[in-house]
Amino acid sequence: MRRWNGWGSEATSMSIPGNGEDFLVERVGPASPLPDVALADVLQQVPDSRLPAHPLISTDPEARVRHARGQSLPDWLAMRSGEFGRFPDGVAYPETSDQVRELMDFCLEQDIVLIPYGGGTSVAGHINPPEVDKPVLTVDMGRMNRLLELDTESQIATFGAGTPGPLVESQLRAKGYTLGHFPQSFELSTLGGWVASRSSGQQSLRYGRIEQLFAGGRVETPVGRMDIPTFPASSAGPDVREMILGSEGRMGILTEVKVRVSPLAEQENFYVIFFPSWEQARTAARQLVQGRVPLSMLRLSNAVETETQLALAGHEKLIRLLEAYLARRGADQGKCMMTLGVTGTKLQTKAVLAQARAITKAQGGINTGTLLGKKWAANRFRMPYLREALWQLGYVVDTLETATDWDNVDHLANLIENNLRTTLSPLGEAVHVFTHLSHFYSQGCSIYTTYVFRAGATYSETLEWWKQLKYSTSSLIVNNRGTISHQHGVGKDHAPYLPAEKGGLGIRAIRALCREFDPKGLMNPQTLLSDD
Ligand SMILES: Cc1cc2nc3c(=O)[nH]c(=O)nc-3n(C[C@H](O)[C@H](O)[C@H](O)COP(=O)(O)OP(=O)(O)OC[C@H]3O[C@@H](n4cnc5c(N)ncnc54)[C@H](O)[C@@H]3O)c2cc1C
Repeated sequence: MRRWNGWGSEATSMSIPGNGEDFLVERVGPASPLPDVALADVLQQVPDSRLPAHPLISTDPEARVRHARGQSLPDWLAMRSGEFGRFPDGVAYPETSDQVRELMDFCLEQDIVLIPYGGGTSVAGHINPPEVDKPVLTVDMGRMNRLLELDTESQIATFGAGTPGPLVESQLRAKGYTLGHFPQSFELSTLGGWVASRSSGQQSLRYGRIEQLFAGGRVETPVGRMDIPTFPASSAGPDVREMILGSEGRMGILTEVKVRVSPLAEQENFYVIFFPSWEQARTAARQLVQGRVPLSMLRLSNAVETETQLALAGHEKLIRLLEAYLARRGADQGKCMMTLGVTGTKLQTKAVLAQARAITKAQGGINTGTLLGKKWAANRFRMPYLREALWQLGYVVDTLETATDWDNVDHLANLIENNLRTTLSPLGEAVHVFTHLSHFYSQGCSIYTTYVFRAGATYSETLEWWKQLKYSTSSLIVNNRGTISHQHGVGKDHAPYLPAEKGGLGIRAIRALCREFDPKGLMNPQTLLSDD
């Protein structure tokens, strides 16, 4: 069963090895966990529903609790403390586009706010009930989870929009295909959510971001049904697909999603390469992508992330041996770890690997082969479970991400890290901060920073610390040529920072578009645009 107050399945957990805990104590100090509230206590707080009865709507308190929050840090703190604030008044689980239409018409008639809900993995407050006086209905798309059609000639698959990652892949794999979209939230996030929040998967280098994968589909909007046809490309004016990409539930509910799929690759391997310095590692990454070497995945950890990952990996003895070997080859203090993916036919992968080896070797890269890469691949979707393990020890973890051009990558990454590292210093609190670059483009890349601090004495103190860290760093990002989000979307948490990158006219145009689809303003208010 899915955890009601954290990430993933109750049956899965990860632990922090003993030396990993020591590592954290050294960096941020000893911690003690805050007490977790019991589900039964939260259920007592759920107020009566304000929704009129409808056969497709459940007002069961537990369903309402389970759909009240996503996975941002404030969401996490709300779920663990029991201080939810707001709950949706009901949850519906439609099975067809017609049922979605029926629910939407009901909401329009009754003046009910409607929140489309995919996997609820938002880390930016997308699906939390807004601060409005109207009743709120959450529409969980999870029952629309099937592969509806596969056109093998055009390689286009049509899915129910609520299909989560594992069901997308298993249904395609059974027919010899893959979508190749692997966000770290793969286990729970859905196709509709990916499109609506412009998601990016770990292998976007080969398969593209969701923008490249999304070919068309069906959207039920408050003013009617819209079918978006598929074209390989078109110069017929602005692209309606692009209006729906990133619409974050403000314009309608995607019920069917058509995606561009690929035949399963003959071979796939992940290699781990260490570099003596950040400068060499970053240069190699830029050269790989600007040289158009067709890798399927590339990720570059800075020195602190490399050190942290090795400390939390367990297998102390093996890691010590590895580090001694790397030190002998010149990668000691300050070493940086690169993981790269090579996917394709045997012939293709051989050529790609040779190209990648030449570029990385010229920058002092030491290739350790596929062993660590296999570990990475085996655990790639388990990492979110670490949050629970850290929480149980009294540590809080969150991430921030952006993207910027190459000329600004180091500058912005340093600003972000320094700000996170020092913001709580006046309070005597240390924050452990580390970064990786991923999702590489010839123009630039994304910067993904993780920060760990210990929980405060109370929930409100912990939330206050988070606000200081998040708000100041978000301002820094948009004031220094970074986008407020490369892949997590806008939601409610990033909405105040959107005008800095869209400009006044841009925001008015987005607002006008939302109004065109949703004149009554009932679709997911306060998400994407903050001042409704
Ligand atoms: C541990 C973790 C790791 C993550 N890793 C990544 C990552 O690697 N890459 C990445 O891109 N993101 C990542 N995310 C963020 C998140 O998973 C993505 O934003 C994802 O696209 C959300 O999908 P979802 O189905 O969970 O949508 P939800 O969270 O349910 O909703 C997100 C938004 O989409 C709207 N929406 C959902 N379904 C529909 C629909 N059918 N029609 C219209 N609107 C809809 C919602 O109203 C909401 O505004 C991560 C999150 C977590 C918690």
